Amino acid sequence: MRIKNFGDKGTRICNNCGLSSVTYQVRNISFNDYSATINNTLIGVCEQCNEIVSLPRQTVPQVKAEYEKRFE
Ligand SMILES: [Zn+2]
Repeated sequence: MRIKNFGDKGTRICNNCGLSSVTYQVRNISFNDYSATINNTLIGVCEQCNEIVSLPRQTVPQVKAEYEKRFE
């Protein structure tokens, strides 16, 4: 798998903007449906609307672990 790094750029489909440029940034992200927050996570952010549009594969286990913690 290709590891993303801070500052990497790419192109993704954004729900708000359609095809859009993304920049990978380290952010604290929170789930929409409950109040969990994951700190210092590398995610892809739309350059136009600033929404999270991409979760790098390397980040998924971290998010999944945090997600599962909420239901234990
Ligand atoms: Zn957007």
